[in-house]
Amino acid sequence: MRSWKWQMAAVALVLVWAQTALAGPTFDRVMKTKVIRAGIMTDSIPGAYYNEKKEWVGMDVDIAEEIARRMGCKLERVAVSNKTRIAFVQQGRIDMSVANMTHKRERDRSIDFSITYFFDGQKILAPKGKFKEHKDFVGQKIATMQGTTSEINVKNLLKELGDPKYETNVISFQKESECFQALRMGRVAGWSTDSTILLGYAAQVPGEFELVGDFFSNEPYGIGLPEDDSKWRDEVNFAIQDMWADGTYKKIYDKWYGPDTPYYFPLTEKIEMWP
Ligand code: GLU
Repeated sequence: MRSWKWQMAAVALVLVWAQTALAGPTFDRVMKTKVIRAGIMTDSIPGAYYNEKKEWVGMDVDIAEEIARRMGCKLERVAVSNKTRIAFVQQGRIDMSVANMTHKRERDRSIDFSITYFFDGQKILAPKGKFKEHKDFVGQKIATMQGTTSEINVKNLLKELGDPKYETNVISFQKESECFQALRMGRVAGWSTDSTILLGYAAQVPGEFELVGDFFSNEPYGIGLPEDDSKWRDEVNFAIQDMWADGTYKKIYDKWYGPDTPYYFPLTEKIEMWP
C-alpha cells in the first residue's frame, strides 16, 4: 500500500516537473508575478533615451510596454548598455532585452532571440559637406561603441577599403553619447553605427551632420531572451506578430520614425508572420 502511494506521488511529481519544464520557467513566473523585467538602453535616440523632460522614451520602450500590456503585465524597466544587455539575460536579471540589439549567430550561442522586430543597417555620420563616400574615411578616425556589431563592421569596412591602420583608426567608446561628443569636438572624422541611432543624434543639431555613403551591413534587431525557454519565446513572438497584425506596430513605428519625425526612416520590410 505504502509503496503504491509513493509511486503515485512520484508520478505526480514527475508530471508537475514536466509541465513546468514544458511551460518554460519565465512565462510561468511572469504570469504569476504579472511583472516583466525588460532591459532597455538609455542612450539610443530614438530607440530608448531620456528626453529633455527626463522621461525614458523611445521605440524600444514602447515595444516593451506593448508586449507587457498584451500579456496583462506591468513592465519593470532595467537600464542596460551594450555591455550588459546579454549578460543580464544570461544571469536571469531580466526577462527580455529590448535594446537595439542585432540578432547575430554568435550572440545566439549565449541567449535566444525573438523574431526580427526592427530592420536597420550601418552607416557613417560626419560633418556636413566634408565627405562624399566611404573611401574618404580611409586614414581617418571613426568613433563607434565597444562590443557592438558596429565596431566589427566598421573595422572590416576600413580594412576592405585598404586602410592599413583600420584597427587603431576605429576608436571605441562605451556610449553612443560619447561617440557623438567626440564627433562634435572634431576628435573623430565620423561616427559609425546603426543608421537610426545616427539619425537620432544628428537631429539634435539640425543641419550640422549628414550620413555618408550607403548601408554596409544588415542589422536585424531581435529581442534577447533566455536560452532554451521556448514557451516564453513563443509568447513574445506572438505578441510582436499580434501588434503587427492589428496595426499597433505601425503606430509605434510612425511615432518614432514616421515622416513627421526628425528621424524619418521608411519601413521597408515586413515582420515574419506565422499563420
Ligand atoms: N545594433 C548593433 C549591435 O547590436 C549596434 C548598435 C548598438 O548595439 O547599440 O551591436
